[in-house]
Amino acid sequence: MNDSQPENHPTIVQVAVPRPLRTTFSYTLPAGDAAPPIGCRVRAPFGASTIVGIVVGLETNVAGIKLKEISEVLDEEPVLGADLIDLARWSAEYYHHPIGDVLATMLPTLARRGEDAVVRAKPIWRVKRGDLNVLARAPRQQETYTLLSALGAVRDAELAVYGLERRHVRALAEKDLAYTTEEQPNLRRGHTNITTTLEQRVAIEQIVGALGKPETVLLDGVTGSGKTEVYLRAIEEVIDRGQQALVLVPEISLTPQTASRFLTRFGSAGTYHSAAADRDRFDTWLECAKGVQRILVGTRSAVFAPFKNLGIIIVDEEHDSSFKQAEGFRYSARDLAVKRGFDLSIPVVLGSATPAIETLTNVDRGRYRRARLTHRPGDAALPRFEIVDIRGLHLDRGLSEPVTSAIERHLESGSQVLVFINRRGYAPVLFCPQCRWQARCANCDSRMTVHQRPRQLRCHLCDAVGSIPVECPDCRNELINLGAGTQRIEEALGERFNVPLYRIDRDTTRSTARLEANLNAIREGEPLILIGTQMLAKGHHLPAVTLVVVIDADQGFLSADYRAPERTAQLITQVAGRAGRAERAGEVWVQTLDPENENLTALMADGYAGFAAREASHRRDARMPPFGFMALIRADALDPEGPRRFLAELRSSPATAGVAIAGPVPAPIPRRANRYRFQLMVTAEKRADLHRFLRSIEVIESPRNVRFSIDVDPLDTY
Ligand code: ADP
Ligand code: ZN
Ligand code: ZN
Repeated sequence: MNDSQPENHPTIVQVAVPRPLRTTFSYTLPAGDAAPPIGCRVRAPFGASTIVGIVVGLETNVAGIKLKEISEVLDEEPVLGADLIDLARWSAEYYHHPIGDVLATMLPTLARRGEDAVVRAKPIWRVKRGDLNVLARAPRQQETYTLLSALGAVRDAELAVYGLERRHVRALAEKDLAYTTEEQPNLRRGHTNITTTLEQRVAIEQIVGALGKPETVLLDGVTGSGKTEVYLRAIEEVIDRGQQALVLVPEISLTPQTASRFLTRFGSAGTYHSAAADRDRFDTWLECAKGVQRILVGTRSAVFAPFKNLGIIIVDEEHDSSFKQAEGFRYSARDLAVKRGFDLSIPVVLGSATPAIETLTNVDRGRYRRARLTHRPGDAALPRFEIVDIRGLHLDRGLSEPVTSAIERHLESGSQVLVFINRRGYAPVLFCPQCRWQARCANCDSRMTVHQRPRQLRCHLCDAVGSIPVECPDCRNELINLGAGTQRIEEALGERFNVPLYRIDRDTTRSTARLEANLNAIREGEPLILIGTQMLAKGHHLPAVTLVVVIDADQGFLSADYRAPERTAQLITQVAGRAGRAERAGEVWVQTLDPENENLTALMADGYAGFAAREASHRRDARMPPFGFMALIRADALDPEGPRRFLAELRSSPATAGVAIAGPVPAPIPRRANRYRFQLMVTAEKRADLHRFLRSIEVIESPRNVRFSIDVDPLDTY
């Protein structure tokens, strides 16, 4: 316990309640009870109900008004240590979000519900030596055996994380080739036959040299340059010093390889992500707090996990937008990781092949240090770019002839091809060439996407579905599909090429197991075509792919959102990075209607770094983040007048010195799921001015039917 008891016995506790309220509430303690330390949970009456809140303060003097009494103190020791309570307070102020809701977001669901903070023993699977011949006819079980024995020990709850299926593991147990135990695996010092490159050693030294210091290091390394190996070595050192490591990743369920590399190297690693069961999340969280779990690999919310002795935080793919929560408490896990590292005086490593403009700017300003990995180990060459100008070319369902010929050439030489199109479905527009009618969503300002199997229209914004009309509802003319999505590309390529096709998008790939099975087949290296959305751009190693085709990605360069060019350049670079990861150099063909686009040509000529420098100078000229500070205030309701009027009222706040306010204007998607959306964009050259304005409006209550939110450092303006 860090909190020293005040001299007089406190009799009043301040509690943050899990409600969107900006105040904390005072309660008295049951007579004779000692005050619980700050960070403990209490059950207390609130209105007509009972809540589980967090003690955030203690007082000795009795207030004039009569207070309600705590019903129950749930913890003897704080579930949230002083560092996390401080982080919550800071976050509530920075993001202008109610402290009670911030604390509730930090806690795992079961902790929030008041469940006992006691870890339950959990079965852990291991393989047993035995006669593997019995698996001769069970290839999936054989695969499972190999994977499980490579991983060492996998908790039952985490099988899916590593792409293992419980039924196959159980089948192994029946054959006496696997067993469960409740014993925690010992942490082992990593063993590997990888010899680090000079660049890797320099990076490792820089990070290890920062241990115990509040330093942020950008690990700026091209895709496949061995960033993960650098993390592993740095963590090894942290573990040797008896400390813990937190690794934040954008996605666990889609990239099991990332988590499995930590597990195979160290023999023990916890995972924390939204797909895990509540009980497992709470257990892992508690194990980190007790120091039992030394390595935690988790998604966004893991930035709030408690640790006994944290030594390093690593944010892999730091540019990824999933680190920012898009609703409720709109925090950036990457930015809070940096803040947390600073508070704890430990290094934070931000790794990416395509660092965010704000991160690069922080390097330029001398706030972050940088380590570079400029090439791939073993001299795997970086891909070569080719721009295909499709103006005036005939397209067969989105594909031009030069691109199709290139695909043919690569398949014939025995390699794999990846076709990237960031649009799922069959066609984005169903159109009448006679009267220009388009299929639109009844609930949103958007078009319906045509889907096949099942044949239907779907709105990607609100998930509404409808049947495909046989003729134009207005003029009875025949309708045509415009543009192409993954399904249509799949159809076109399937007719032309006689190789296996794998389509990987949100419609085909709901489960990790399915994706893993596909990826395993893909890693066999047979000629085939992969068609996918950005799901494929994330972290997968596809060593046999020698050609990446990018369709329509340049559309992002034309979007009105000021961050769209950055996101697009990152996406193209990340997809391109899947090519030529092994010995064979890759080619990236970008099919575009806008070959002279300056963003695109900068990216092709000078790579992501060249693009980023250019983009940063535009932002500087426009005083856009990170050269100015921004918040977006959004309001929506079932009618347009309410949100518009409410935002106009916010705008008339007296505290507008130093801020520029644009709006109220309709959001770029003005109506979504039947709600009319408006926004105010607030920018300031000084952060203090922005926050003064936000403080002045955060307390204003919106009319009952108008929803409103404050988004500080918004990632998109939609
Ligand atoms: P990144 O995270 O930068 O994309 P990875 O860490 O995944 O790159 O490394 C890409 C591949 O290169 C992996 O298969 C990894 O095992 C391998 N690798 C990393 N460092 C080395 C090295 N020094 N020598 C040989 N192979 C390496
Ligand atoms: Zn028509
Ligand atoms: Zn819709």
